[in-house]
Amino acid sequence: MVKKELRVHVDSEHYWTDSKIVLGYIANDTKQFRMYVPNRVQEIKNASSQEQWNYVATTDNPADIASRGANIDQLLQSTWFGGPLFLRQANLESYIDKHKIKGDHIENDPELETVKAMATSTIPKIQMSSRFENFSQWKDLTRSIAALSMLPKRADNKDKKVTLADLSKAETRVIKVLQTEHYADEISQIKCQKRVGKKSSIFKLNPLLDGSGILRVGGRIDRATTLEEVERRPAIIPKDTHIAKLLVQHFHEKIHHLGRQSTLAAIRSGGFWILNASNVVKNLISSCVICSRLRKQPEQQQMGQLPPERIEQTPPFTHVGMDVFGHFMVKDRRSELKRWGLLFTCLYSRAIHIELLEELTTDAFINALRCFVAIRGPVLTLFSDQGTNFVGAQNEFQRQIDVTVR
Ligand SMILES: [Zn+2]
Repeated sequence: MVKKELRVHVDSEHYWTDSKIVLGYIANDTKQFRMYVPNRVQEIKNASSQEQWNYVATTDNPADIASRGANIDQLLQSTWFGGPLFLRQANLESYIDKHKIKGDHIENDPELETVKAMATSTIPKIQMSSRFENFSQWKDLTRSIAALSMLPKRADNKDKKVTLADLSKAETRVIKVLQTEHYADEISQIKCQKRVGKKSSIFKLNPLLDGSGILRVGGRIDRATTLEEVERRPAIIPKDTHIAKLLVQHFHEKIHHLGRQSTLAAIRSGGFWILNASNVVKNLISSCVICSRLRKQPEQQQMGQLPPERIEQTPPFTHVGMDVFGHFMVKDRRSELKRWGLLFTCLYSRAIHIELLEELTTDAFINALRCFVAIRGPVLTLFSDQGTNFVGAQNEFQRQIDVTVR
C-alpha cells in the first residue's frame, strides 16, 4: 500500500523486524506448524521474498516506540523520525550479512505440529483349517486324517488298515473343524436357542445340528425315506474355502468331468451343501484342463479371396467350372451299364447344367461339351480338375488349333 501511494521508483526493499521467531518462520521450509502460522507466513511470502527480511535489535527498532508509547520529549530524542543509525552506514550490506538470522529458533516452538508415528503388529492366529490347504485332493485329505487318527490303534496292531468307516469319520472331522471356525456363533445359537439369528448368512437354510455336531440344511424332505440321510440333510460348507474347492473338484472328477448342473447334482447327492456352489463349479470347470480339452471348438481356417471370375458381373455360363460325378448303374434293355454325370456350374450366377457321359473318355466328354455349348452359348473360361478325359480333350483341342493355324 505504501509503495503504491509513494509514486516514487524504489530500487530495492528491505524489511526489518526484532522478532527472531518470525524470521525463523519466514526462513523455514521444512517444519510443519499448526494452521495459524503457515497462513500468516504465506501472506508475508506472497508480498515479499525471504531475502528481503532482516533483523533489527529492539533498541534500534523505531516501530517499538509506536507500540510501546512515549511522551513528546522521549519521542523527539528517539529514532522515530530519523530511523536507526545503522541505516545511514555506508556499508549497509555488510551490516545486514552480519545480522542474518537463520530459521533455527523454532526447535521447541509450541506452534510446531507434532508428528506421531505408530507401529502396529499382529500375531496371526493359526487356524486348523489352514492346514487343510496343504492338500490338493479331497481323497488325500480324508485319507491322511484317517491315517492320523489310526496312530494310537496302530500302536497295538501294526497291520490295522484304514477302513471305509474310518474315512467317513475323517470326513466328519474335517467338516466339523471347518464349521466350528466359520459358524461358531450359529452353532452356539442352535445349542442355546434351537435356531440361528436372522442376521446369519445361513439363516435361510434353517440349519440344525446332527448327532455328531455337524451343521446340516433343514429342508422339508425329512419324510422322503427313499433318500439317504445325507441327501435329505446335506452338510453346510462355507463358501470361498479350500474345502469347498476340494469337494467340487472331487465330485467333478467322480462324474468324469460332466457339466455344471451334473456336478452340482453330484455334490448334493454326496451330502454337501456348498454355499455359492454354482460359482465355485463354474470357476473350476473354466480352469479344468480336461474339460477345456473336451469342450474346445475345432479351429476353422479363414477362407481366401475369391477369383475375379466369381465376382465380375457376366452373362450366365461365361466362366464355368465343371466336374464328373458318378458312376450310376443304368438299365438298357437287359444289360446294366455305367453312366456318369457331367456337371457345369456358372461361376457368377452359380446356375447348374448337367450332361450325361456314356464313358470316361475324351470323345464322350467332347460330345457332352458340344451339347452344353449348343444350349448355353459360348464359354470364355472352363475350370476343371486334372481328370484324364479333361486333359485329353484339352490336348485334342490344342492339336486342332495348331493344325488350323498351320
Ligand atoms: Zn473337468
